[in-house]
Amino acid sequence: MRLSPSFRHRLSPICILILAVTSSVFAQQKQQMDEDFAKSVKEWTTRPEFISPLVDHLPKVAGVPSPKDVLGYHIGTPKKLTRTTEIYKYYRELAAKSPRVKVINIGQTDEGRECLIVIVANEDTIKNIEMYRGYLAQLADPRRITEAQAQEIIAKAKPIYHLSGGLHSAETGPPEMLMELAYRLAVEDAPIINAIRDNVIVTITPVVEPDGRDRYVDWYYRYKIDETGEQDSMGGPPYWGKYIFHDNNRDINYSQVTMRNLLEWYLQWHPPIMHDLHESVPFMYTFSGQAPQQPALDPILYGELPWFANFEMSQMIKYGMPGVWTHGFVDMWSPGYLAFMSSNHNGMIRMYETFGNGGANTMKRKVAPPEGAGQTSREWYRPSPPYKEVEWSMRNNTNYMQTGVLSALQLTSQFPKVVIENFYKKSRNSVEDGKTNAPYGFIITPQADMTRVATLVNLLRLQGIEVGKATGEIKLKEGAFPAGSFVIKRDQPYGRLAKILLEKQNFPDPNLRTYDDTGWTMGLMIGTEVKEIADKAILDAPVATVGKLEIKGEMKSGEAAAAYAIINHGSNNLITLRFRLKDLKVQANEQAFKSGDAEIPAGSFIIAANQPDAHNKVKAAVESLGLNAIALSSTPNAPMHEVDLPRLAVYSTWGNTQEVGWVRHALDKFEVKYDLIYKERVKQGALRDAYDMILIPNQSGSGKRLVFDREPARKPLAYTKSDQFKSHGVYGESEDITGGMGLQGALEFEKFVNAGGLLVTLGAASFFPPEFGLTRKIDAGRTSAQFYAPGPIVEAEILQTSHPIFYGYTKKTLPVRYANGPLLNVPERDREQQILMRFPGGEKSVMSGLMRNPNEIRNRPAIVDVPAGKGRVILFATNPCYRWQNHGEFAMLFNTILHHNDIRTIEKKATQTAEVK
Ligand SMILES: [Zn+2]
Repeated sequence: MRLSPSFRHRLSPICILILAVTSSVFAQQKQQMDEDFAKSVKEWTTRPEFISPLVDHLPKVAGVPSPKDVLGYHIGTPKKLTRTTEIYKYYRELAAKSPRVKVINIGQTDEGRECLIVIVANEDTIKNIEMYRGYLAQLADPRRITEAQAQEIIAKAKPIYHLSGGLHSAETGPPEMLMELAYRLAVEDAPIINAIRDNVIVTITPVVEPDGRDRYVDWYYRYKIDETGEQDSMGGPPYWGKYIFHDNNRDINYSQVTMRNLLEWYLQWHPPIMHDLHESVPFMYTFSGQAPQQPALDPILYGELPWFANFEMSQMIKYGMPGVWTHGFVDMWSPGYLAFMSSNHNGMIRMYETFGNGGANTMKRKVAPPEGAGQTSREWYRPSPPYKEVEWSMRNNTNYMQTGVLSALQLTSQFPKVVIENFYKKSRNSVEDGKTNAPYGFIITPQADMTRVATLVNLLRLQGIEVGKATGEIKLKEGAFPAGSFVIKRDQPYGRLAKILLEKQNFPDPNLRTYDDTGWTMGLMIGTEVKEIADKAILDAPVATVGKLEIKGEMKSGEAAAAYAIINHGSNNLITLRFRLKDLKVQANEQAFKSGDAEIPAGSFIIAANQPDAHNKVKAAVESLGLNAIALSSTPNAPMHEVDLPRLAVYSTWGNTQEVGWVRHALDKFEVKYDLIYKERVKQGALRDAYDMILIPNQSGSGKRLVFDREPARKPLAYTKSDQFKSHGVYGESEDITGGMGLQGALEFEKFVNAGGLLVTLGAASFFPPEFGLTRKIDAGRTSAQFYAPGPIVEAEILQTSHPIFYGYTKKTLPVRYANGPLLNVPERDREQQILMRFPGGEKSVMSGLMRNPNEIRNRPAIVDVPAGKGRVILFATNPCYRWQNHGEFAMLFNTILHHNDIRTIEKKATQTAEVK
């Protein structure tokens, strides 16, 4: 370790004396240092206390390239951000020259960029990296080893400490810092670094979301490089990755390709620690897992988290760095944050938030809010608070992050066996917990729609949870379950994770607030019954291991078929089938009917057999999509309508593309064709000539914000592709993304509806039609300040069971995720006709997670269908397409698309017409 002159300044004379005595340790330090680095870094660090003796120097080693040797600039150079290609180039050159560095590819992004992992350790470890990977894999599944074998493995194994940067594209510092860290770990000859290199395997995701990184860096060079302070911020680009922004840290089902790449890598390598580097609060917050905590996770974890956080905080305070704190920010409830990948699999999630400027400009920052101290107050967990105002630079940010990470690695290098032993113990405890504490397992019984069963089983399998298929009938206290039932036993390494994902979430204290969702119970969200089992005998039930569950559909074709009926049991795949068979005429029966023994529910597809190649086309689609079809000897005489596909547009503001992105992602996955349109298209008018249905996904929070959107900036913000900015103009183009569609746009939507179009709004977008008079008689209100509902799952009651939106739904009530949409009010005389679904409200209706004051939503509409002009508006107060979670609600949206022009208002009962007077 090399102590900087600035550090010596801050030490007392006694310390200097001690330093002199112990200087023999430092005297061995003969490594040549990069003078230019030290000088530059000192200049870019805005105050002497914003740096530590760990990072104020950088060795120069002949033959091994430093970041500057490849990039042309040091890390933390003002106004320099690095694109993914250059970042990868640096790591590859470093790996080519250093036997202590290895680069591996783990897949590709949506836009075809590479996803990489970088490994840094001593030469010997790198040479034998497969052996070390094997040790951790063995410890990750303690069922296969004895306690004595485990101890032998622990004695030989080394912990992997994984670091991730660039998950959030606007948080630009970590991908920069990690390059310098990798170089330092590879080359520096200092006691702390040597111990890390020898005792720890450091792995790095240089950029978790490469598409977003490049788009943001392009945006920075296009607009943000001239920013001088917070007051003239130009904001960020309209997209990061293809679909989502911050929600890549809420992707609990690993729907996005970059998250999935990392998960697949994780399950091969089993890092006991996974540490995400974020930017937001001053100057550095290190996550310690505050309440509310996920109680199903191992209690050891809750000791480990503050152990690390407190060590980092005390080290950095010792180095004189102010503003390092822990506790008091992010809680440990929702298991959907990316690094939960590790804690959910018996490792340890870690997170930092450091202070970023959204780019690499040095600027004055107001840290405290105008009133009060905010995060600059002194608290027990913040003994040395951040300053109220500060001049802040990218290098400051780099210094904080890197000093924190080096401290965490120092701790790991001093206690490598403790970290590994804890990992092993947590894995063993998970298995043991499943043998000693109910529930001992979960059972999913086969149901009419097996495609949703497959969705659930495959999402569990994706996370490494073992699922078995019962080879015979299982008799338990809970009842008898047929052969073919899917069984999740809890006595497995990821048994705790299975419990977390499948059980009902009982939020511990309604007075606590939480950072994200409180409910995610997978069976409720996917619309598949999952039985919790308290009978220990489930652990002995004979099962066959399930790999990826593929449901093969079945076409029972009879002699001289007149038509085929594709049975609607609520599968989301029906919409895919309709799009795959777009050349065939497809009808839907509006009432259930019988054909022989078979009951054909309303909303099934009826396809006349005399169409060209109908048999083969239907068979191929049905089989590949896991659906069931039967041949009908005659055309049914039930009332039917044609299932013709709408010319569909999905409307997005430029300012809130993420929730739209989740809907786009689902539509893409189910092969639904649509145009993505923005204000530019809306303002052109003639929407009805081009579209039959326009969908406005949840966005913006109010009608006003949907209409006026992003505040105009100092100059137009073009999002257009150019040679210089190739990542722009993707998923839409605009000469100026600010200003919103304005009243002119609102008027065009009104014209669209009046001319016979169907407008469908989801969640908060449902404020727009009432607030701008498209549905004049409907009001959209808000809950009170006492109401608090961070993503619970609540009961909804279907009022118009025969409405096409509910084809495939067999029960009168169903679980929905509460979306904090508007509290809709329909005039009393229209309620019977226009309210399709409502929230019963009250405590009993909360099925999972937290809703404070649930009486506020009592009997409020959840879906309203309002005729307007020649068209109609359907308002969802729910969000039927949320983060690839609520597959059980998708069909309501898909049915709206499929039956867009066959939705009719029910007849009013005679008794009620009297009221109208
Ligand atoms: Zn972040």
